[in-house]
Amino acid sequence: MTNKLKYFIANWKMFGDLKSYKIIANVNKFNNKYNKIDNYKIVFCVPNTLIHIFSRKLKSKTILIGAQNSTHHKESGPYTGSVNPTMLKAVGAKFVILGHYENRCEGETNELIKKKLIESHRKNLKVILCIGESLNQKKQKKTYQVIKNQLRKILDKKTKPENIILAYEPIWCIGTNNLPKEIELRKIITFIKIECKKILKSKKLPKVLYGGSVNPRNIHLFSKITQLDGLLVGGASRSSKEFIDIIKNYYK
Ligand code: PEP
Repeated sequence: MTNKLKYFIANWKMFGDLKSYKIIANVNKFNNKYNKIDNYKIVFCVPNTLIHIFSRKLKSKTILIGAQNSTHHKESGPYTGSVNPTMLKAVGAKFVILGHYENRCEGETNELIKKKLIESHRKNLKVILCIGESLNQKKQKKTYQVIKNQLRKILDKKTKPENIILAYEPIWCIGTNNLPKEIELRKIITFIKIECKKILKSKKLPKVLYGGSVNPRNIHLFSKITQLDGLLVGGASRSSKEFIDIIKNYYK
C-alpha cells in the first residue's frame, strides 16, 4: 500500500432517516482519533432528504457529504421529482455519484450521464463516476471494451481529473458477495488510468476506486492493490462498526 490520499465512499442508496446521523457521528469520532495525518477522505452519499441536516451537523475536514444522483437540467422547470446540481450544492453536497448501475438499469445512458457530469462540474460538484461490466459482458470477454466505451462516451479532454473519481463497480459484484480476482482487478484499474490519461490528455490522473461487496472481512484483499485509490462501499456503509472496521482493516 502507498501513502497516497485514499477515499472511502459510502453509498447509502435508499436508506436512512434523521436518526441515521448517529452512524456518521460514530465514524467522525473514530476518524478524529485515527486519521491524524489525513491519510484518507470519507464521503457519505446519503439520500437527498438528509444532505442539508447532515452537512450542517457534521464538523469535519475529512468527512464530506455527497448525493447519489442528479438531473442534468440547469434551470428549475417542469421536471417532477428532479433535483439538479445547483440544488444539491446549495444544501451542502460536495460530491455526486453518477452512472451507478442501479440508475443505468432505470434507463440512464452514457449520453445522459455525460450531460449530468457537465452540469455537476459547472456547479462545482465533484463527480464519483461508476463504470463496470455485467456478468454476461464479462463472460463474453467484453470487460475492457465496455469500460473503454463508458469512459469515452462520458469523459473528454475538458474533464478535469481533480473533479472526478472513477469507481470501477463490476455489476456482478454489487450486493452479491462476488469479488474480482486480484490480478484482474489490478489490470482493470491500470487500464482505466491509462484510458483516462488518453481521454483527458492530462498528466494528472483521476482517483480510481473499486466498489462491490466490500466488507471488513475482505478488505485486506484490496489494501495490497497499490493501483487502487480507495473503495466505494454500499451495504456495509450503513453500519458505523462495519465501515470503521473496513478502514481499520485496510490500514492493518
Ligand atoms: C454500490 O452499490 O455502489 C455497492 C458497492 O454496493 P455493495 O457494497 O452493497 O455491493
